[in-house]
Amino acid sequence: MVAFLVVCWTDAVAADCVSPIQVHVSFAPGTVTVDAGKSSRKLEQIGIRSGAIHQLGVTRATPQHTVRIQIDERERCVRPVVTLQLTVRPLQVELARELEQSVCLRKYVLDHELQHVAIYNAAMTRAAVQVEREMRAQIIVPLERDGARAERLQAEVYERWLPRLEALVAQSAREHEALDVDQEARAHRACSSEIALVMKAVR
Ligand SMILES: [Zn+2]
Repeated sequence: MVAFLVVCWTDAVAADCVSPIQVHVSFAPGTVTVDAGKSSRKLEQIGIRSGAIHQLGVTRATPQHTVRIQIDERERCVRPVVTLQLTVRPLQVELARELEQSVCLRKYVLDHELQHVAIYNAAMTRAAVQVEREMRAQIIVPLERDGARAERLQAEVYERWLPRLEALVAQSAREHEALDVDQEARAHRACSSEIALVMKAVR
């Protein structure tokens, strides 16, 4: 979590002249790294979801954000600019060590985790677009002068808009659940001959 606060002000600016706020919200998908060093037992301890597939693969995504508040003054008017940059780092897929027993199941579990990543990325992209639109329409630029204005805007981003973003992303929970329906059966269909080998290594 990183935050920057940039405040510019000169005495030449008329205190009551405020241009419409500019809001920029962007999401940059993270880079997926794959680690296959931990045992299934270890993954089970850190896994969030349940089911056999998730004893074999876990995705860990840590959202990051940078907030920049700029109070720009041009032509005797202040122009507030709010920039919110979002990404996810680290974004790590952990595959159970036992999967080295099966090329098929390793690929299956990796593909499954990458589908969770894709759902997450799509949800973040949609949420960024929506939050930008809502912020532009709903932020009322405070009338305080100097640093107080920037501080109020920053507080609003943290107290209102970051939670709003989180709530929007959480709406994708149903998509994750849908992806997880029937995973065991699907994995068996995809890799029936090899699955027993891996499960034997797990136990
Ligand atoms: Zn899953």
